[in-house]
Amino acid sequence: MAHGRERHAGERINWLRAAVLGANDGIVSTSSLVIGVAAAGADKSAVLLAGVAGLVAGAMSMAAGEYVSVSSQSDAEKADLKREAAELKTDPEFELNELTQIYESRGLDSNLARQVAEQLTTKDALAAHARDELGINELTRARPLQAALSSAWSFGAGALISLLAVSFAPQGFIEIVSVVTALAALALLGALAAAGGGASPARPIIRIVFWGAAAMAATAIAGRLFGAVG
Ligand SMILES: [Zn+2]
Repeated sequence: MAHGRERHAGERINWLRAAVLGANDGIVSTSSLVIGVAAAGADKSAVLLAGVAGLVAGAMSMAAGEYVSVSSQSDAEKADLKREAAELKTDPEFELNELTQIYESRGLDSNLARQVAEQLTTKDALAAHARDELGINELTRARPLQAALSSAWSFGAGALISLLAVSFAPQGFIEIVSVVTALAALALLGALAAAGGGASPARPIIRIVFWGAAAMAATAIAGRLFGAVG
C-alpha cells in the first residue's frame, strides 16, 4: 500500500518534471530567439515571425528527439518481453523457480511464494514476469507517441508565453518585456516544480533564472553584433 502510493507520487513527479522541462525550454529558447532578432534592429512583425518559426521548429525538434529516444526504450522492452516469452516456452520450470525466488526476496515465505508464483503463472505467466522480473507495467511502459506529443505540447506552451510577451510589447520595448516575462515565468515554473516535488524552491529557481538570463544575454549580444554588421 505504502509502496504503491510512493510509486504513484514518483510517476506524477516524473510527468510534472518532463512538462516543466519542456516549458522551460520553450520559454528560454523562444525568448532568446526574439531578443536576438529584436537586438539586431528588426521590427515587431519580423520579431514575431521569427518567434513563431522558433515555436514550430522547437516543438517539432522536441517531438522528434523524444520519439526517437522513447522508441528505442520501447524496442528494448519489446525485445525483453519476446525473450521472456521464449524462455517461458523452453524452460517453464526454471521460470517458475525464478518467479518464486523473486517473491521470496520480497518477503514471502517459500511455500507462499511458490503458491503465488504458480497461480500467477497459470493466470498469465508473461504478465507476471514482465511486471515482477522486468519491472514493465502498463503505467511505466514506454510510449513514444505520447512522450513526443507531451514534449511538443509543453515546449509550445512555454514558447507561447514568450510570443504573447512580444505581441503585447510596444516597439522598442520588446527586449525588456521579453526578459522580464521570461524570467518571471521561469521562476513561477520553478516554484511549481519544486512544490510538486516537495523540495525547497529557492535553489532550482535561482538555477533556472540564471541560465535563462545567460541564454538571453548571449542572443542579445549575438543580435547586436550581427545587426551592426548587417
Ligand atoms: Zn522470467
